[in-house]
Amino acid sequence: MSTSYTELNLGELLKRHPELQISHTDYNINVTANFGTKLSSGDAEKMYQDFDGAGKPSTLYFHVPLCSYICHFCNYVKKYLPEDGNEEEVLENWVNLLIKESTENLHRNNWVSKARIESIYIGGGTASLLKPHHLRKLMTHIKENYYIADGCEVSLEGNPDNYQGNELAEAIEMGFNRFSIGVQSLDDQVINAVGRKHDRAMSLSAIDKLLVTEKPFNVDVIFGLPYQTPMSIAEDVRILCEKGVPTITIYRLRNADRQKMGIGNSSLWNNKRVREKMENANLFPSLEMTYTMREEILKVFLEYGYQPSPCGWWSRPDTYAEGNIPQISKNKWERYDSMIAYGPGVYGWLTGGQDTVLQTHNISDIGKYVEAMESNENPLSFGRLLEGNQAISTALGFNYKANQPIKVERYQKQFGVNLLTDTPYAEVISSLIENRLLLKVDENTLIPTLDGEALHEEIISIYFHNKIGNFTTEICNK
Ligand code: SF4
Repeated sequence: MSTSYTELNLGELLKRHPELQISHTDYNINVTANFGTKLSSGDAEKMYQDFDGAGKPSTLYFHVPLCSYICHFCNYVKKYLPEDGNEEEVLENWVNLLIKESTENLHRNNWVSKARIESIYIGGGTASLLKPHHLRKLMTHIKENYYIADGCEVSLEGNPDNYQGNELAEAIEMGFNRFSIGVQSLDDQVINAVGRKHDRAMSLSAIDKLLVTEKPFNVDVIFGLPYQTPMSIAEDVRILCEKGVPTITIYRLRNADRQKMGIGNSSLWNNKRVREKMENANLFPSLEMTYTMREEILKVFLEYGYQPSPCGWWSRPDTYAEGNIPQISKNKWERYDSMIAYGPGVYGWLTGGQDTVLQTHNISDIGKYVEAMESNENPLSFGRLLEGNQAISTALGFNYKANQPIKVERYQKQFGVNLLTDTPYAEVISSLIENRLLLKVDENTLIPTLDGEALHEEIISIYFHNKIGNFTTEICNK
């Protein structure tokens, strides 16, 4: 990255870019498209069947929608797994449901078994709740039925409480080579206030175990939580950097309701009464305070030489080859390869390097997903067909989010447009360059600046989705 930050404080940066100001409660920006032609499940299924994905690079995602506690901020699709003695049966049922969905998809769509899978992600919910025999069953299914590329990245997402024994060694033995854990905070008062059931000691112990594996891994941290201060969250990040955690992702607490957005659940804190009670008790840090938190966190990252890549993730230099981003981010964001996704509430997309995109959305109500699966129905809820500037806007948004070079010739080849001369791209790109949110390296290469990295979600929403995706005049030249 050849540019430097002009401003570490997001609030100050937003004052310079008032067009990017998004209300605090609307902050949860959907990086997938809300536009495009909405397709019924039947029409989306038909397009899925007709898709030519054989031999094309793809990523595979399985969503395990179970958690042993429900965090008060969480708006992802998941349900509580009580400790009532039935955990084994419930976990086994979910593994079977996911395998069933995958098997039926493989049967319906010939190309799926021939797509070149370069990255696999078992996430959730809390995928690390799965016991080794469940993971083995899922991995065996994947290995036996998909075309797995050499060197495929296989990630497991989880929480510190599930990595207190020998779980990691077993996971590595069955093929996992990358991990991601939700630590969120190293302060027990904060962790307790958000409803999580691990503590600082468990998080540090899990991180130490992950470091011993010498595999790349990511630690998620949230800022803007009750009881956090700029100094306390910066201290948490300092400890993680000092330990040499390969990648740390910082999220600002968001309060948008993903159920209302049609892509997730409502969180406890989305409940108006709960929220007002907490606000009246001054438990949420102010917006200005969250800006200071981010500024203090960034100072620590810069002190330890961490690099932002992809946007919002900070990595130790050379954690990954080629751009210092994991393979899954290369597939999903930098290249916008197809993502084949299974489980309730998941979304994916079929691109295959073509100029149209089929975005897929599964049923997000967990009960209805189970009903569909038990009735042998496809749990696909709806699709979106993105064409022309709609498809280009999502490709650009993801490319920007990956924090990797945006190659003008790729857009010419794939979509038949010139980003530097055609309407509306040229106006959007030159405005981003003028505002120092994008750097033109040469006639073929654009790259997000560090200021742009800080505002990437706002830029994706306002510049790419609104100004290009919702642009109504037909302009695609291909
Ligand atoms: S943040 Fe993670 S552990 Fe907490 S409820 Fe959400 S998915 Fe479950």
